[in-house]
Amino acid sequence: MPVAEKRDYYEVLGVSREAGADEIKKAYRQAALKYHPDRNRNDPDAETKFKEAAESYEVLSDPEKRARYDRYGHEGVRGAGIHDFSGMGVDDIFSMFNDIFGGGMFGGGRGGRRGGGVDLQMEIELALEEVASDVEKTIEFDRRDSCEHCSGSGGEPGSRKKACATCGGYGQVEQNTGFGALFGRVVTTCPTCRGRGELIATPCKRCGGSGTQKKHRVLNVHFPAGIQEGQAVRVAGEGEPGGPGGRRGDLHIYVRIRPHTFFERHGQDLLCRVPISFAQAALGGKLEVPSLNGRVEVTIPAGTQHGQMFRLAGRGLPALRSKRKGDEIVQVWIEVPKKLNKRQEQLLREYADTEDKDVLPESKSFLDKLTEFFSGAGQDEQNKGVNRS
Ligand SMILES: [Zn+2]
Ligand SMILES: [Zn+2]
Repeated sequence: MPVAEKRDYYEVLGVSREAGADEIKKAYRQAALKYHPDRNRNDPDAETKFKEAAESYEVLSDPEKRARYDRYGHEGVRGAGIHDFSGMGVDDIFSMFNDIFGGGMFGGGRGGRRGGGVDLQMEIELALEEVASDVEKTIEFDRRDSCEHCSGSGGEPGSRKKACATCGGYGQVEQNTGFGALFGRVVTTCPTCRGRGELIATPCKRCGGSGTQKKHRVLNVHFPAGIQEGQAVRVAGEGEPGGPGGRRGDLHIYVRIRPHTFFERHGQDLLCRVPISFAQAALGGKLEVPSLNGRVEVTIPAGTQHGQMFRLAGRGLPALRSKRKGDEIVQVWIEVPKKLNKRQEQLLREYADTEDKDVLPESKSFLDKLTEFFSGAGQDEQNKGVNRS
């Protein structure tokens, strides 16, 4: 590939040699957006210009590299850990300079937004009452952050950096793969300096050179009404940085819902099982039942059956998107007394004597089926069993 003569970095970005950091950043942002291949599908040169701008920005945004470039031109920064943009995808370049683009510039699909950062996950338990309306919770967690003392560089502020001896400051090393001198040489990122070309002379006293420190974080996070078990709220940019000065990932808070004394959640509906006595079921009456906003009176009709359900419209949970409220469903179950006092037993026996099977439809049809069973086919089955013994 013929090596075209490199254009002046200031010229590429269209800024003067005295331009400040903000002006350079702004100029690069404009150039990158102007030449982004997605916006220039008919211009084959757009990608080259896009990468040229990225390279210019990488040098001019770094005070040390800029100073070398100012003194020695392109020769001064050759191999000084500058990325080979010609071989990189546009997405990767976007994620490299994410802080400039603020993320999502070309929609979530560009993939660069979380490129550098590390996502964090945690869990929170919410009460059902909290899901009924929007709620704000205080979240506390520890995360790895850029060291404040050294701004993530790992070097003690004011200390000098020294050129990496392994790669001689080039950031890359040649390795002999042993397949012969002609094809056997492979260029890789220097393992000692990880491609930076320089090493820290005095490690940061606070972080010991790692460039990171553990930090406690307290956040107020909003959980929308109607959120379901297992769903997560994403807090953008509250994860960990991928590297020194890099963009943060996101924090994902997964929701668990605490079991409730009375309610079982079925989507937006709340099921509440209420015990009633046989007398209440037979005679009907008023029941006091719990709801998410206090006690509610429910009238059950005479002749209420075991397991029957009553719907209290709009007393459930709101849907996450539409906020339309579900219902509360009261299901009654008839509790049979395990012990009767003398008077109760006497009354119940009197009642039993008056019981007319004709007013109990289920019992009547059961007795009819029983008679039919033992006089027909069922009878034969029974006899076979008896004969064999
Ligand atoms: Zn530090
Ligand atoms: Zn090195």
